[in-house]
Amino acid sequence: MEKKRVYIFGKKIADGKADMKNLLGGKGANLAEMCLLGLPVPAGFTVTTEVCTEYYANNCQLPAELMPEVWAAMTKVEEMMGMKYGDPDNPLLVSCRSGARSSMPGMMDTVLNVGLCTTTIPGLIKKTNNPRFVWDSYRRLVMMYADVVMEKAEGLEPAEGKGIRKILDEKLDEFKKSKGYKEDTQISADELKTLAEDFKSIVKKALGTEFPDDARAQVEGGIKAVFKSWNGKKAISYRKIEGIPEEWGTAVNVQAMVFGNMGDSSATGVAFTRNPATGENLFYGEWLVNAQGEDVVAGIRTPSPLNDDTKNEQNKHLASMQEAMPQTYKELDAIRTILDNHYKDMLDIEFTIQEKVLYMLQCRVGKRTGTAAVQIAMDYLKEGKIDEKTAVMRVEASQLDEVLHPICNPNEEKKHNVLVKGLPAGPGSAVGKLVFTAEDAVAAVRKDAKAQVILLREETNPEDVEGMSAAVGILTARGGMTSHAALVARGWGKCCIVGAGKLHINNDTKTAKIEGTDIVLKEGDVVTLNGTKGHVYAGAIPLMDASDNPSFQEYMKIVDKFRTMGVRTNAETAEDAQRARNFGAEGIGLFRTEHMFYGKGSEQPLFLLRKMILSNTTAERVTALNELYPYVKKDIKETLLVMDTLPVTFRLLDPPLHEFVPQSLEKQAEVAKALGISAEAVAKRGEALHESNPMMGHRGVRLGITYPEITEIQIRAIFEATAELLQEGKKPYPELMVPVTSDVSELDVTKVIFDKVAAEVAKKFGVASIDCKYGTMIEIPRACLLANKMAKTAEFFSFGTNDLTQMSFGFSRDDIGGFLNEYLDKKMLAADPFQTIDQEGVGQLIEMAVTRGRATRNNLKVGICGEQGGDPASVEFCFKLGLNYVSCSPFRVPIARLAAAQSAIKAGK
Ligand code: ADP
Ligand code: MG
Ligand code: MG
Repeated sequence: MEKKRVYIFGKKIADGKADMKNLLGGKGANLAEMCLLGLPVPAGFTVTTEVCTEYYANNCQLPAELMPEVWAAMTKVEEMMGMKYGDPDNPLLVSCRSGARSSMPGMMDTVLNVGLCTTTIPGLIKKTNNPRFVWDSYRRLVMMYADVVMEKAEGLEPAEGKGIRKILDEKLDEFKKSKGYKEDTQISADELKTLAEDFKSIVKKALGTEFPDDARAQVEGGIKAVFKSWNGKKAISYRKIEGIPEEWGTAVNVQAMVFGNMGDSSATGVAFTRNPATGENLFYGEWLVNAQGEDVVAGIRTPSPLNDDTKNEQNKHLASMQEAMPQTYKELDAIRTILDNHYKDMLDIEFTIQEKVLYMLQCRVGKRTGTAAVQIAMDYLKEGKIDEKTAVMRVEASQLDEVLHPICNPNEEKKHNVLVKGLPAGPGSAVGKLVFTAEDAVAAVRKDAKAQVILLREETNPEDVEGMSAAVGILTARGGMTSHAALVARGWGKCCIVGAGKLHINNDTKTAKIEGTDIVLKEGDVVTLNGTKGHVYAGAIPLMDASDNPSFQEYMKIVDKFRTMGVRTNAETAEDAQRARNFGAEGIGLFRTEHMFYGKGSEQPLFLLRKMILSNTTAERVTALNELYPYVKKDIKETLLVMDTLPVTFRLLDPPLHEFVPQSLEKQAEVAKALGISAEAVAKRGEALHESNPMMGHRGVRLGITYPEITEIQIRAIFEATAELLQEGKKPYPELMVPVTSDVSELDVTKVIFDKVAAEVAKKFGVASIDCKYGTMIEIPRACLLANKMAKTAEFFSFGTNDLTQMSFGFSRDDIGGFLNEYLDKKMLAADPFQTIDQEGVGQLIEMAVTRGRATRNNLKVGICGEQGGDPASVEFCFKLGLNYVSCSPFRVPIARLAAAQSAIKAGK
């Protein structure tokens, strides 16, 4: 059979259904589903995503078969709606709506009121007896069509960077100002008519082509434009951030228009079936009387609350739909229940009321904060609507990050006065310097990856997504809880406040004045956002973490029922270890011994280490090491105690020694005195340790090969700490990990020391033996290739994927800032391999090492301790390779637990 390109929906029938998202896009599939549920949906048809692929494959030409199929479908829509497209007396109008598989809010284009032209306008005026409505619809069509179809889709570069939409918007504003109008609704029919005519001549002048006055041509143009918008700049950026594949394409939905702009008994709105910020089981939304389409989302007018539950400081004076149209509200609320029972998930819906008649225009699974995602999953589970497995799959692992997100320390927050208030659109808190454009936000982070900026905008639009992604927080002066900024920020779990109406932004001077005060915020000023409350403060308020949320704790218990792979943490202080344990870590996968020489309390051990490093003879070195020993043992013992009953992997000293050589004259003099030599001699010994490529220099296991006494005291500290804890009735499980190995001989030489010390300590404590696993970090490609030999001595492998990635790519971890962005921008690499395992390349090495290692020792324990251990995709990869555990930083432990459980569920375990 010839391939079907067009799928019809309307009046309780549909060719498609909800699970056909790949073919029909999310919007088309759900429109079909709502029709099948018997909900009031204006009839229409969906042109498939495959046609989009065909269109691009075909050099941006629609396949010849398409338009005849479209017109045939249109005939059926005409029958269902009782109107005719392009008819002078009873004209049907349509919208051309984009709709990809996964939702991309506002990233692609939609054109409304298609079909209005010289032949149809008089008929529609006569039929509706509402010229104002017709001319309002027409001027909207001209604006949207010129922007989407005639400019963007044609790839025209706007003169002086000002697109046609902007030019027409300014013209409209200018006109309103000249008349003293505040709202669009004040403009009269005749004025709208004149405006539309003016718009058309402006379009002609700016774009060089006439606005098409032919209904059929408008539809074809609309379909093409929607396809084109798949490759618009903002859609491409959004896909990159969200990881949506380019080849998916968008569908086009051509749908009969219904009108929210026919007067005061008409309206349009958007809603969530549950609260998307908190997850509460309350209907949540915004609406606007006498408005069309995107007026709600675009922040043109402050939207009114849907109901009592949606009222807040900013909108409580406005009439809710519950109050103004109680009957229609009831109908909408009933639809909410039908949808909730049917989809068993929180949905985001769009509706329009045409002269008191309610129509559903869209539904999709709604974006939510991580906190809401957990709450919603737990609620549906408790309502008996979903099972535990489904609940586990309902939360994206990376979203848990924001559940653990820092919030303002409440005690500190109390001491600050609120600078300005807005709506709490995205969770958690953020502290950063203000920037006024998306470009500035991107530039700041490009310059310094750790830069913390808050993006301050009048309102955001889809062009801003990259800057929004780069910022730690987003603040807007306009827009509601369903505005673009709010939707996108919530999807990302980013702190966001919208609609802070007292901010008067001047983009030219990059300043914002706060109404009713003399305060003027400038670029670079530090502010704190509390996105959970919608409060903005001047200066930096200290943040704290928010992990003891009871729903979260309960949820994680269910998650662990399905998890089969272990999750450990990388930690080296008792504090980190304790936090990770609270987050559910089942051990430490990487304890970096050298950590005791940095930061708090490191003065004395560092001094002794320096003394040891700068020693000239073994005797001198042993003296220094003996002095250092108690510190090393104490550190190890404390950690074993915090992790009592759980394994702790101690890594032998890893960094090149010269990193610790004192640089200041004063410190050099101190060490000189302790060693009884001159300061010059100390400086000289320090210089002698200098290496031209320390990353590949004298470090890791190599230190112990040349100075076995360094290895020996560390091993002794581990055994003695363990023996002491055993005596105290504790259950320590130490593991020794040898770093930077490339040959089994290195493991063998070190093992001799290990066995000798083990026997000595056992004897000293009068026990037969002390258990400690002996293993190695796998971080050099050669070790992967020779894993069968490494496993002869090693009882476990732990992949150090940071170094393994560095050595496989030959990319210096510390220098990638200079070139990695180019690789990502040019799509030469799909992702930063230091954040997510390069499965294709580095992944082969890991797989090989696992297979070869286990061929030698079938119970070889294998884990990973690179930062990628907390990345959901990497966790799934590790699961597939049969790793025993992943180890990651404390805050990512819950993410790894969820990702591991989801991997197990996906694998049908
Ligand atoms: P997006 O994907 O950006 O949400 P939509 O295709 O949903 O874009 O269109 C945006 C808005 O336009 C909708 O929320 C709806 O209010 C309005 N709209 C689209 N199609 C119609 C229609 N057939 N009748 C009335 N309004 C429509
Ligand atoms: Mg929509
Ligand atoms: Mg390393």
